Amino acid sequence: MLLPPTPSALRRAAAALKRGEPVAFPTETVYGLGANALDPEAVRRIFEAKGRPDDNPLIVHVTGLPMVRRLVRELPPAARALAARFWPGPLTIVLPKRSRVPDIVTAGLPTVAVRVPDHPVALALIEAAGVPIAAPSANRSGRPSPTRAAHVAADFPGLLVLDGGPARHGLESTVVALGNPPRVLRLGAIPVEELRTVLPGLVVATKARARAESPGMRHRHYAPARPLVLFRRSRAAALREALAVDPRALLLCADADARLFPGWRPVKLGATPVEIAHDLFDALRTQRRGSVLLAYALPRRGLLRAVMDRLERAATRVV
Ligand code: AMP
Ligand code: MG
Repeated sequence: MLLPPTPSALRRAAAALKRGEPVAFPTETVYGLGANALDPEAVRRIFEAKGRPDDNPLIVHVTGLPMVRRLVRELPPAARALAARFWPGPLTIVLPKRSRVPDIVTAGLPTVAVRVPDHPVALALIEAAGVPIAAPSANRSGRPSPTRAAHVAADFPGLLVLDGGPARHGLESTVVALGNPPRVLRLGAIPVEELRTVLPGLVVATKARARAESPGMRHRHYAPARPLVLFRRSRAAALREALAVDPRALLLCADADARLFPGWRPVKLGATPVEIAHDLFDALRTQRRGSVLLAYALPRRGLLRAVMDRLERAATRVV
């Protein structure tokens, strides 16, 4: 059930959360499927509803540092500096957890991932519920993340969804673990280059390390309803051939690359990195009819590095 985020809808959603029921809500990254983070039974229902593997921890959404302090054992200077610059915003910070954070939220890890979303409806909902909200993306596990309320409704008919319109970024938060050196565990809506203005020593964890430290990185993600084959930028000719042999294939590429595939009308990915990030998950859920999605890789810079991470994880095959 989609509800515009009126004061009465917010009260209703907050009441549902307090009763331990899941509620979907908009954030600036993607839509979240929320539960009271301090109620293990409510959190269990989120895992069940999504079909999410129980070794994949959830991000806890809060209104600000006072609420973070109630969840974590320490708040190192680097975390305070990141928070001052990027919160509210699409940055998730992994910190040592207090015992009051249930193990199911963190998949048994001694750390908890926290974030202050930059969305008035998300903040109003946390405020009204009066508790931190554990929320993964509001999609069935393995499917593309929802950037519109209708995507949530498609995956969870009957769920209470606060409809805040299309998500501003359309890409999930960047996840950072502090330590020596601080590491990006998941690329996301804030490019690494921008985070380095605050943490110059920040490195991007290798895939193996990210999988070890951030269990969510192990699982298949973002899969569209049909196969997706990702062609590297050096393989434009192979992509043209694949299109020539299968007239029912759908081409997925950035506006600037469309001229490489004359005669094809691509599933739109937009022109600028911001547009491409914004449109990616919507494009993966395209309603157009076709046999397979054939995607042309993007240059791995800035925000597009995170888009490429999602495309690689969505792909059935990379050519
Ligand atoms: P999602 O809920 O799908 O946006 O995924 C949340 C991401 O945050 C996954 O990649 C998780 O592995 C990661 N994450 C959440 N909690 C932790 C934690 N305590 N330590 C490391 N990574 C985490
Ligand atoms: Mg997700």
